[in-house]
Amino acid sequence: MPHILIVEDEAAIADTLVYALQADGHSTEWVTLGSAALDQQRVRPADLIILDIGLPDISGFETCRQLRRFSEVPVMFLSARDGEIDRVVGLEIGADDYVVKPFSPREVAARVRAILKRMVPRTEAGTAVLQLDTVRMQITYRGQPLALTRHEFRLLQCLLEQPRRVFSREQLLDALGVASDVGYERTIDSHIKSLRAKLRQVAADAEPIQTHRGLGYSFSPEHA
Ligand code: CA
Repeated sequence: MPHILIVEDEAAIADTLVYALQADGHSTEWVTLGSAALDQQRVRPADLIILDIGLPDISGFETCRQLRRFSEVPVMFLSARDGEIDRVVGLEIGADDYVVKPFSPREVAARVRAILKRMVPRTEAGTAVLQLDTVRMQITYRGQPLALTRHEFRLLQCLLEQPRRVFSREQLLDALGVASDVGYERTIDSHIKSLRAKLRQVAADAEPIQTHRGLGYSFSPEHA
């Protein structure tokens, strides 16, 4: 269940949002101060924050700036009047969307849905899709532990530890601790193939391991 943090000092507005979002299947938390939102996000990270610009302590803009130092959570601004925020300013400080008051709570809920859909899938708030546990030698994908061979584990570990880095087949073979000899490319390719098959059993439409023609492979969090 996606968790939404609402930061709004007007109870009547917050109430309509809580109602619309809960009707849409979200869990909600409501705070009235920017500082409380920052605290809350550290303790119980939300999947999305709806942030009023005019708050009693620090402004929504300032809250968002401080938030961005430790969180990439999507932010939707609530603006008291047209012109208080323009799209460029919003994007510059890391907002994903904004609505101007008075707004339809249903429209806000629809936009929340759209933003959450665009996000990298997460198993739960603040948790990575692919989780590496080097103590138990276990990798969990979308909450499901993967049954991997030793080589598949090492391979995926190597890719996960440096997201987006393209590893050559030779570098991956090194990570496996296997001497590279004739046919080593096919060894890696066959491990990658079986690894992908196991990942697809969890999520058929995702492609966390990307092929780079003539170069090698990388882990792409965006495609996980
Ligand atoms: Ca306000």
